[in-house]
Amino acid sequence: MKTPIVELSGVSKTYGDTAALANARLVVERGEMLAIVGPSGSGKSTMLNIMGTLSRPTSGTLRIDGHDVNHLSDRELSALRAATIGFVFQSFHLAPGVPALDSVADGILYGGRPLRERRRRARQTLQQVGLGHRLYNEPHQLSGGEQQRVAIARAIVGAPPLLLADEPTGALDSRSGAIVMALLNELHQNGTTVVVITHDRDIAASLPRQVSIKDGRIELDSTRPDQVSA
Ligand code: ADP
Ligand code: MG
Repeated sequence: MKTPIVELSGVSKTYGDTAALANARLVVERGEMLAIVGPSGSGKSTMLNIMGTLSRPTSGTLRIDGHDVNHLSDRELSALRAATIGFVFQSFHLAPGVPALDSVADGILYGGRPLRERRRRARQTLQQVGLGHRLYNEPHQLSGGEQQRVAIARAIVGAPPLLLADEPTGALDSRSGAIVMALLNELHQNGTTVVVITHDRDIAASLPRQVSIKDGRIELDSTRPDQVSA
């Protein structure tokens, strides 16, 4: 069998008395695209941050591309994350005053390539997301939808196999949101594994797989109903 890109087994995360995530089991195969849905506070971001190795589980096992992250040093984990995972957030997370080209070039800082090469790849990626005419614009000179496309370019400039997006359309009008979702779908068509947290039922329904969470528990998994823990 192929190695899943992400595998959570019995993963829990507690904050004080709060069980943000309880005994989660989730397998994501390479090339899948899925929506994570659930009410506010249900544990969606907690799960995505654990999948992205930004947060360590309190208990349970996370495997990324077959690597048990509990067995990796911080340094190894940083290398795995840089090579494997791109992140997109609701609020874009672009540094103020930094032109789009440099924000995107920063997406491959970890590889240690020269600035010139990083800028060349950044330019190509901005063209890919339809922003070839916005290379030198700073965030405040861009619309929300354009800022999110810059953020997506930064996330994918290193060609990671896994893209994690936490409410990527949550701060956008419906037209800009549709452009962002079309872009994520295109990346999926080209082979990237895409995990999208969304509040939007229409967006969730449009994706090939839906996983719903409530009170830190996975309640429903549309393609793997048998794997949901009791
Ligand atoms: P969602 O993304 O579905 O809105 P979260 O994963 O952000 O939910 O939060 C799940 C629960 O964990 C909530 O009760 C939230 O208050 C709590 N929580 C999340 N992050 C933290 C944190 N860093 N410290 C304390 N509690 C947290
Ligand atoms: Mg959240």
